Amino acid sequence: MIDRYLSLDGAMGAEMQSELTPSDAVALLKDGVRRSTSGKVSVRDRQSLLNDAAGGQFPYAAVLSCIDSRAPVEQIFDAASGDLFVARVAGNVASPDLVASLEYATKYAGSKAILVLGHTRCGAVKGAWAGLEDGHLTGLLGRIQPAVKSTKSDRGEEGSPANLDACSAVNVRMTMEALRQDSAILSELESKGDIAIVGGVYDVATGEVSWLD
Ligand SMILES: [Zn+2]
Repeated sequence: MIDRYLSLDGAMGAEMQSELTPSDAVALLKDGVRRSTSGKVSVRDRQSLLNDAAGGQFPYAAVLSCIDSRAPVEQIFDAASGDLFVARVAGNVASPDLVASLEYATKYAGSKAILVLGHTRCGAVKGAWAGLEDGHLTGLLGRIQPAVKSTKSDRGEEGSPANLDACSAVNVRMTMEALRQDSAILSELESKGDIAIVGGVYDVATGEVSWLD
């Protein structure tokens, strides 16, 4: 399946998307990181991608990630136009409109995997850890508080880089669980084996992803 993906000239089409299994989609994400970190990125013809765009979109996966400028999702996974739905919000939290976007990406647009992607050195996690309250940030950072509480009780109160990065991983796991709890659509798709829900933490310094599954 990876060879078939790499031999694409334009965008992924309906037939290929429908033949992908959830584990194929996760394998494509993992191979994308391998290509990015090894410098062996794939190149597809821009005009072919643009031509295919008019015919619809058949992305293989959806990624819920942070807004951080050092975590450019398509680059991380060596993805082209039409490959990925990307939902971004500070701290990669499962707020309702983001959950709805993932429901659309999977149930209505056929993506086979959801990746919750946290990252190291996350400013949202750092803010939540410090108890920052300001404007709309208060509510957003409140969604990270369960991960902060859990990490502090395991590792102590010190806001060291290692503790904050550990909190990012806990936040990813809790976000994956929130998707299952808050969305009947996503939990049903997962239990039927139609999608996989996976998690990872992107290292902004190395470009690697630590997979949590
Ligand atoms: Zn972040």
